Amino acid sequence: MKSWLFLLLMALNLPLFGQYRCASRQPSTGPDSAPARPLTAIEARGMITIPIVIHILWFTPSENLTDAQIQSQIDVLNEDFRALNNGLSTIPPVFASDIADMEIEFCLVAVTRTRTPFPNVANLYSDGQRRACHTLLGGHDALDPEHYLNAWVCSRSDNACGEGTFPGDPGVPADEQGIFIRPDCFGTTGTAAAPFNLGRTATHEIGHYLNLKHLWGEGLEDPLCQSDDMVDDTPEQAYSYSEFTGEDCPAHPSFSCGSADLFMNFMNLPADRCMSMFTNGQRARAHAAIQTFRPGLLEASCLPVGLNENEEETEEPLLLQNPSSAGARLLLPQKDRFEIAIFDASGRLVFNDLKASGGFYALDPGLFINGIYYIKIRNGRKIHVKKLIIAR
Ligand SMILES: [Zn+2]
Repeated sequence: MKSWLFLLLMALNLPLFGQYRCASRQPSTGPDSAPARPLTAIEARGMITIPIVIHILWFTPSENLTDAQIQSQIDVLNEDFRALNNGLSTIPPVFASDIADMEIEFCLVAVTRTRTPFPNVANLYSDGQRRACHTLLGGHDALDPEHYLNAWVCSRSDNACGEGTFPGDPGVPADEQGIFIRPDCFGTTGTAAAPFNLGRTATHEIGHYLNLKHLWGEGLEDPLCQSDDMVDDTPEQAYSYSEFTGEDCPAHPSFSCGSADLFMNFMNLPADRCMSMFTNGQRARAHAAIQTFRPGLLEASCLPVGLNENEEETEEPLLLQNPSSAGARLLLPQKDRFEIAIFDASGRLVFNDLKASGGFYALDPGLFINGIYYIKIRNGRKIHVKKLIIAR
């Protein structure tokens, strides 16, 4: 792109193309002024599992995404952040040793569904408060943002697919921290639409949430090679590759700033299918960000979270015989079907039934040894969690 045109667009703060991936605001102060902790201390930490809460904010019914579409997004995250995704075999050999298992996994602990009175609620504000993040303003409150990654899935008016908040950004209050993904850029099924239909917008925005910058550094692009992403093993790069939303992906080698670009990195902006890797340096930066800015994530649990939504339904599932010396029985409201999942105190799934009917429901004594169990009962909209104590 001609540099004068680029500078003009940058001055106007306009996206370069009709549809684009990312509207994240990279703070110019904050996290980068703090030195990263020594790599050895970070590496010792090993695997991190981040519990994620999905808030579906729908204006048109098609935006009220199915559980299957939500799960497809969680599956993508657990592939992309563990280097288990497709496309790694196409990485040019010169970059192969840079491919990182980020050693980050995600568990879904709750889904909220809210009918919002506002179209494009993602970037609407009221007296400086972001509507999407507040129940009283037409969105849904964040759930314990110190301990959970909150993801709001809702439409927006700026043609961006998504946005992620950087840790330590003084401009973003804690209860508005998280990621914002447009419904048609979320997951791999249902309403997900090409070229952003492989779930990579959430991968990219969670990258920002964990302090990863775009590979070119600041601004929409960096044609003069003046800024950097603060990661050593990603080559200095000028362009975002956001124009690659059609048939073709960029071809290696694509040179800028004196070296071949790592255009297939998740922190660039081409079509979902053109991106496939994080680097070891990005892993170190993300783990350092969690330890420094989001340490609550390290203490969080993957146990499903019970939500007390204000819904018309008044009938509640009941847990009979608790504490119990054997099994237990549930009494489920007659009108619904339920998913029942039982977890032990360490969060391990010990039982799952995706199609339970209303009425009495017996839990086999053989499922349990002595201890505490959490029974998650879900009827699609609402999650109930019962604590069961087994003492023989
Ligand atoms: Zn971005």
